Amino acid sequence: MSQQTKYLLDESQMPKFWYNIQADLPQPAPPVLHPGTHQPVGPDDLAPLFPMDLILQEVSTEREIEIPEPVRDIYRLWRPAPMYRAHQLEKALGTPAKIFYKYEGVSPAGSHKPNTAVPQAFYNAKAGVKRLTTETGAGQWGTSLAFAGSLFDLEVLIFQVRVSYDQKPYRRAVMETYGARCLASPSTETVFGRSVLEQRPDHPGSLGIAISEAVELAAQRDDTKYALGSVLNHVLMHQTIIGQESMLQMEMADLWPDVVVGCTGGGSNFSGIAFPFIGHGLRGGPKPRIVAVEPAACPSLTRGRYAYDFGDTGHMTPLTKMHTLGSTFTPPSFHAGGLRYHGMAPLVSHLKELNLIEATAYTQGECFAAGVLFARHEGIVPAPEANHAVKGAIEEALRCKREGRSETILFNLCGHGHFDMTAYQKYFAGELVDEAYDEAELAMALAGLPSVA
Ligand SMILES: *Cc1c(COP(=O)(O)O)cnc(C)c1O
Repeated sequence: MSQQTKYLLDESQMPKFWYNIQADLPQPAPPVLHPGTHQPVGPDDLAPLFPMDLILQEVSTEREIEIPEPVRDIYRLWRPAPMYRAHQLEKALGTPAKIFYKYEGVSPAGSHKPNTAVPQAFYNAKAGVKRLTTETGAGQWGTSLAFAGSLFDLEVLIFQVRVSYDQKPYRRAVMETYGARCLASPSTETVFGRSVLEQRPDHPGSLGIAISEAVELAAQRDDTKYALGSVLNHVLMHQTIIGQESMLQMEMADLWPDVVVGCTGGGSNFSGIAFPFIGHGLRGGPKPRIVAVEPAACPSLTRGRYAYDFGDTGHMTPLTKMHTLGSTFTPPSFHAGGLRYHGMAPLVSHLKELNLIEATAYTQGECFAAGVLFARHEGIVPAPEANHAVKGAIEEALRCKREGRSETILFNLCGHGHFDMTAYQKYFAGELVDEAYDEAELAMALAGLPSVA
């Protein structure tokens, strides 16, 4: 048998619909609540922040939602994305497992994020919106929205978490190249940012704070809306093009995964690869194990509480039921900036409660070691976030070796690490410390969760 390495789809095979897992859930996810009344929110409550097309997608229970033609035209710049078999890594590990990875680093931004940035910019432009505000951690989401905004002639204002703003100057240069404006968060341009800086002038920032700043500005102006790069149902749905393509590519390989692995920050790239497989299983198909991998320093799925919480630190968002470390929790400054979020997508959290997915956590050092091994055998230098998925897949492959099983493992290589080389330099210099989160701070953040009857 030939040792095929690369699985490519024709443009004509690119999916025409996003997959909505809400159509196939054995029970619906708990409702989103208004922060004041604790009653379920309706579409109108969300209208100040999002265009109606996206709000309707957020609450839809239709299984397939058509990808508009202008979005498909842009997707074709890099999609369908390749899937590879990691023959060299398999050999290095001496595993009988077959390891496949879907590569999302081929997008202009270098990650999966443009899969949702493009449709979000499209629907906002269609609704007559002139300006988008958003947050970004490592800069992947900011880069993606800046790129999408430039295509649809939208102004984009980005609050970048302070630590990442300082650690990754090239990311800001890319965002500015696409025409976006980038501010370090906490900033002095919002009421909330100023209040945080007053308490702690050297605050490293967090995604929760940056979200509050972006929401605050969007809520003030009619021509301005807010865009979120993860967590929300419609964002996860836009990413399902990843898993749908992967299903076609697994068919090309004449195999089906026994295990699907993804890293989780807010949960979007994980959902993108996993939801189509989970849905297929819920409709009677094979049921692969689905493994979410998160950082040990910000472990919402493995250590968080399943409870109603705010999506942001300033408590401006609705309440969603999710695995959370508490909205005031500030994770330590590790390098996978995209995974430094206190909560987990409500749909991913719900699936965890239904035991339809598993979760594990690894330290930053373990994940970089896995990423370096991967780079040396497969050639691609993964993003620090993606290293968590690489680590998860390697652990599954080593388990297969111990158990003498030739399982098929599929993981999402959600982005490349070309803008993260300072982190790799630090790793090689032995300067990457595995900073643990503060248990007392976690306890305090959890004690401060809103009480919802
Ligand atoms: C943003 C980002 C993540 C984390 O976000 P998810 O919504 O959990 O996918 C992970 N990997 C990369 C490369 C990212 O850019």
